[in-house]
Amino acid sequence: SSKIIGLTGGIGSGKTTVAKFIENCGFPVYYSDDRAKEIVNDNPELKTKIKELLGDESYDENDLYNRKYVAKKVFEDENLLDRLNQIIHPAVRIDFENWVKKQTKYLIFKETALLFELKLHLECYQSILVTAEDNIRIKRVMDRDLKTYREVQSIMENQMAEKEKIKLADHVIYNNANLDDLKEQTEKVIFEIE
Ligand code: ATP
Repeated sequence: SSKIIGLTGGIGSGKTTVAKFIENCGFPVYYSDDRAKEIVNDNPELKTKIKELLGDESYDENDLYNRKYVAKKVFEDENLLDRLNQIIHPAVRIDFENWVKKQTKYLIFKETALLFELKLHLECYQSILVTAEDNIRIKRVMDRDLKTYREVQSIMENQMAEKEKIKLADHVIYNNANLDDLKEQTEKVIFEIE
């Protein structure tokens, strides 16, 4: 069966960019956060559970997930956020397990912002952390999302500390330079794992 490599990093670290380089090398990548966004619309059982927890307004008149409404609801109540995650995370886990069964490559990658937070690295063969200096990450996200310095900083402050993640990761990619450098480091890490 395939070996699963966990790929993670905080906001603006460059993990999605690394994931694309990995795909270009011919290895499949499962994008957990993207899949979670699809599953809330595709999985009927999940829809029912979310409506039970947060109300029918969680879905709009076309029965599409109302991200704004849900974000507002859970922002006001941490307990609701926990319960929402307890519904969504197992559904993503099952979706991932089904994806894994269909893979034939010997190395497959799982991109997730919460690899260490959810202890998912314990279910991986190895883990890769993408990291960069705070100021560089903030600037990249400001350019990408049109957020303010303070907004990005406050998201970063709510994520697990980089030094904790560095301790847990098998491979660390320091994304402080240009994209050519990032690509080179990514290929080096894949070579090491292989
Ligand atoms: P998030 O968790 O916030 O989605 P991420 O970790 O997936 O972020 P990316 O989206 O890959 O990060 O990168 C953040 C932004 O920085 C993107 O716009 C990306 O194109 C850019 N970027 C990443 N690495 C570099 C680099 N080495 N040089 C220049 N721009 C970069």
